[in-house]
Amino acid sequence: MNKEPVEEEEILKNLAKYKIKDLDYSQGKILGSMCTKADPLSKKIFCDFLDTNLGDPGLFKGTQSLEEEVIKDMASFLSLDKAFGNIVTGGTEANLMAMRAARNLARKEKNIINPEIIIPKSAHFSFKKAADMLNLKTIEANLDENYRLSTRSVEEHLNKNTVAIVGVAGTTELGIIDPIEDLSKIAIDNEVYFHVDAAFGGFLIPFLNDIGYELPNFDFSLEGVSSITVDPHKMGLAPIPSGGILFREKKYLDVIAIESPYLTSKEQYTIVGTRLGASAAATWAIMKRMGRKGYSELANECMINTHFLADALQKEDFELVTSPELNILAFNHPKIATDDLARLLEEEGWMVSTSSYPKAIRIVLMGHINHMHLIDFLTTLRKIKNSLNIN
Ligand SMILES: *Cc1c(COP(=O)(O)O)cnc(C)c1O
Repeated sequence: MNKEPVEEEEILKNLAKYKIKDLDYSQGKILGSMCTKADPLSKKIFCDFLDTNLGDPGLFKGTQSLEEEVIKDMASFLSLDKAFGNIVTGGTEANLMAMRAARNLARKEKNIINPEIIIPKSAHFSFKKAADMLNLKTIEANLDENYRLSTRSVEEHLNKNTVAIVGVAGTTELGIIDPIEDLSKIAIDNEVYFHVDAAFGGFLIPFLNDIGYELPNFDFSLEGVSSITVDPHKMGLAPIPSGGILFREKKYLDVIAIESPYLTSKEQYTIVGTRLGASAAATWAIMKRMGRKGYSELANECMINTHFLADALQKEDFELVTSPELNILAFNHPKIATDDLARLLEEEGWMVSTSSYPKAIRIVLMGHINHMHLIDFLTTLRKIKNSLNIN
């Protein structure tokens, strides 16, 4: 580290050399990310609230109210009048809190000391982190032929140590919506905690349904749903880090409460101690700015782009893994290995990702990708096919 202070101008000049190496969402080359360009308004608000600390809410009562209002507003599009929860760092922390609540409640109410969770094979890897930290045995339930969680497989794995079932509304790799309604029934029948991971789909599915898409129900209107993860920093257009965890009842928070002696609040539920009020304030602002209508328009545009690309890819002999439910596409070409194609695309500047199950090129059609980017992308795919003598 430098001993003498460095001039601001010098610092900025040096930083620019680093920043230039980063990609910018607006170039349209980031095709595999679930995050997107933060809205300028939410960026501004984020900076304004940068030194607020919701870990010590008595000092920041206004920002605390903003967090409560955001939770209430998110609950409103997830069919719950009053939810309990927090704006957290992301889906990972949200899922961790849910699993902690499920485990602790089962320990308290059912005296379960060897807890197990049943997650879909398609679940986000954050559940593996949660299981490791919380000492949970993880059982991966099978998927059906459409890559949806098989309810039969879940039922087969239920036992006296099961503390939670997890379903995903918008899987990370394929954007699949698990049969949440059936899982809710299973959870009720077996009196087990049911968590819905809608980190990605939460800010998408309700708004698509507003404008006539008929996507399956996944929210608190299903009685068995105990908690939902929904991330503002994905389809919600909030800056990173902004995640959300919503619980149906206060009792789930009570079992994860930890006393916080030297602070203005008596207890904390979140994993993180000192935590950004900026996330809550920026999310509050962008939700006001967008409204349900704004989110519907965004979601619809993303879906239109998704269907355009899906059709165009098929015309070019690419095979879709499954027809898209949300704005995520996974595909392969029968004559090109997935990793080779990903590498060739990257050489041309396109940052796609690959799904693991099944292995495929994965594209997330976020709002920063427009029609012209897709035309360019298709041109590159054609160029790659030509270079490999495939036509
Ligand atoms: C992105 C994602 C997560 C993890 O969220 P982070 O914000 O990256 O921590 C969890 N679950 C699903 C379904 C996701 O898509």
